[in-house]
Amino acid sequence: MTAGGGPAAGGRSPRRVALITGGNRGIGLGIAEALARDGLDLMICGVEPEAAAACARLAATGVAAHYVTADIADAADRDRLVDAVWARFGRLDVLVNNAGIAPKTRADILDAELASFERLVQVNLQGPYFLTQAVARRMLADAVPVGPRAVVFITSVSATVASVDRGDYCISKAGLAMAARLWAVRLAEHGIPVYELRPGVIRTDMTAGVTEKYDRLIADGLTLERRWGAPADIGRAVAALVRGDLPYATGQVLTLDGGLSVATL
Ligand code: NDP
Repeated sequence: MTAGGGPAAGGRSPRRVALITGGNRGIGLGIAEALARDGLDLMICGVEPEAAAACARLAATGVAAHYVTADIADAADRDRLVDAVWARFGRLDVLVNNAGIAPKTRADILDAELASFERLVQVNLQGPYFLTQAVARRMLADAVPVGPRAVVFITSVSATVASVDRGDYCISKAGLAMAARLWAVRLAEHGIPVYELRPGVIRTDMTAGVTEKYDRLIADGLTLERRWGAPADIGRAVAALVRGDLPYATGQVLTLDGGLSVATL
């Protein structure tokens, strides 16, 4: 599904183009809105059959927004997604690996099940790792780079903060943090900076089931800034990275958690 303009079939978008996995809601939509404000054309994906409302909202800023249904854990879907980007826009400048899942139920690691672990690693780690490979191959094959490029990985404070009731999630995010470093090293010689952005507690569908718990924890001082994070907070930070406002910083971790990870005594 497409909203807004865009190049004719087979043409190349005159604007920079970003692919944001899971850009149809939550943090991904916050990122998509921020990049749309900066004038990037957008490809977003999710597992839902359509995302008409999100595309219309993004296109209202004057950019083209296109949605493809694709499960990033599935190799054939990843290839189809990358093909769709080049078919629709003829180029890709920015990849934001945002899509991710939490465990269906939080279970103590003494009781947790293999199926949940496998699914979380497939979606949160294997998916973005190999999607980056597929995207990087195509980017590097483009004869003439068309604009400053960047890759952003959305990990989590859970990459380092241990939660024994969702070990699968923590491990998937710790692995993803290493994936970001690996791709930073591999793509540096091609002039493509890679960043890891580590959010704290952000108000989205993912955290809707634990609202009361985090309301209480935040009121009790879990974060130095006593509020929930918002998708727009993450969107503004990604937009700054994509604009190149943090030069000389490839491979670095940007933590946006309201001070949650600041150790105090
Ligand atoms: P939401 O649950 O609100 O949204 C998840 C998004 O990912 C949706 O767009 C969903 O698409 C998409 N998605 C899920 N699984 C797949 C898949 N297999 N293939 C493609 N797309 C998929 O989550 P958030 O916005 O809260 O989280 C976004 C990212 O930020 C995740 O990686 C999460 O781990 C991370 N994060 C979130 C925090 C929080 O507090 N919310 C904190 C730290 C990190 P669809 O709508 O089609 O289901």
